[in-house]
Amino acid sequence: MSTAPRIAAAKCDWGHDEAGCTVLHIDMDAFYASLEVARHPEYRGKPVVIGVGNRSVVSAASYEARQYGINSAMASSRAQKLCSNGIFLPVDMRYYRAMSHRIFKEVFSRITDRIEQVSVDECYMDVSGALLQWGSPSAIGAWIREQVALRYNITCSVGIAANKLVAKMASTNAKPNGMLMIPVARHAQFVQMMPLRGIPGIGPSLERRLNAWGVNSVADLARMSLESLEQATGSALSAHGLYQAARGLDDRPVVPYTQEKSIGAERTFEADTQDMRQVCSMLRWCCDDVATSLRKRGFLARKVMVKLRFPDLSYATKGRTLDCPTDAASVLYPQCVDLLLVMMGMAPESVHAVSLARPVRLAGMSASGLVLAEETAIQPSLDDLLEEKEAERHEAVQAKSAQMQTHAKRLRGAEAALDAVRQKYGNNIASFGV
Ligand SMILES: [Mg+2]
Repeated sequence: MSTAPRIAAAKCDWGHDEAGCTVLHIDMDAFYASLEVARHPEYRGKPVVIGVGNRSVVSAASYEARQYGINSAMASSRAQKLCSNGIFLPVDMRYYRAMSHRIFKEVFSRITDRIEQVSVDECYMDVSGALLQWGSPSAIGAWIREQVALRYNITCSVGIAANKLVAKMASTNAKPNGMLMIPVARHAQFVQMMPLRGIPGIGPSLERRLNAWGVNSVADLARMSLESLEQATGSALSAHGLYQAARGLDDRPVVPYTQEKSIGAERTFEADTQDMRQVCSMLRWCCDDVATSLRKRGFLARKVMVKLRFPDLSYATKGRTLDCPTDAASVLYPQCVDLLLVMMGMAPESVHAVSLARPVRLAGMSASGLVLAEETAIQPSLDDLLEEKEAERHEAVQAKSAQMQTHAKRLRGAEAALDAVRQKYGNNIASFGV
């Protein structure tokens, strides 16, 4: 859920010259909350918050709930205090992902295949090749908005501009349920009416740094020379980016990318815990959940990452690349335990320890670097094996490779059998043992 600043005055008619404005940024409005309202019409018009329990964090809030000052990443217990009559619901990521998949497939892909998916509810679209058929970028935006509302009972906002930066800022300011087209001639003016944080990528620390230089708005930023921006940021690259952004310029292309970036699972503990077994069994549950999703969608993951949130709500992540891509929980889980120990600053031998170095509030993991299983042969990388034992003879390497391949296949077979059992008797009937 976006917390980017919006300016009411920016939501106006900026003119109708669409020449060169071939980049659309589409962003669902309060996506998770809207989907819950769509399947529970009785919640319409009420404050709906996704993220329930006094131990979790808000991951989405309907616009009605935002009026109570509720924001993403706020502790749910605090949100509950701010809005005691709110409807608090658990995160149902599987449902949100499934709906996202349908919207991209059934609506967005009808326009063009030049779609860069940024997240489950957000994408850029390059419509330059679709204008002959569709007429104008705003006709495309209007059709998308109409279809999304009609088919799924949720709304989205659309920004139209000549580049990704201005298109994104336009959709942010069009929210909720709006569309803004910014003609090329007005890009600079539009951008320069924003506060610093209105530029995607300017976070609290860069904002503070710029403030110290007397720069308090994008208009101030536009008055800085490239040299002083370099001095202020300490980086030629950021200086160049800021210099361009302050003028509404951006030369990043829309890179078609539809594959999901990661699949993850996480849960908050009933009470903060330092118990190694409890945290490990949570990670095991997450691995099982993620591996099941991977297999269902035909993906293999190349990378694994562990996420921990601590009692003070700060969080840490640590990831690594796997020797060979996998969709098996039995491969993901030992990696997660290992990463957990690294994050805790504990030695690998302490895998049998009773207690972790510090208490955690939430544990989870995600799999990324997703590739389609049917396009990827499951085999360990020969490079890794060779590196491991340089002196080893070639046949030995081949034998080990074949052995690992058989092992990986067997593990996949076992977990695929688990999927079948679950499909027949329900998700909780069987779980993978360690
Ligand atoms: Mg959104």
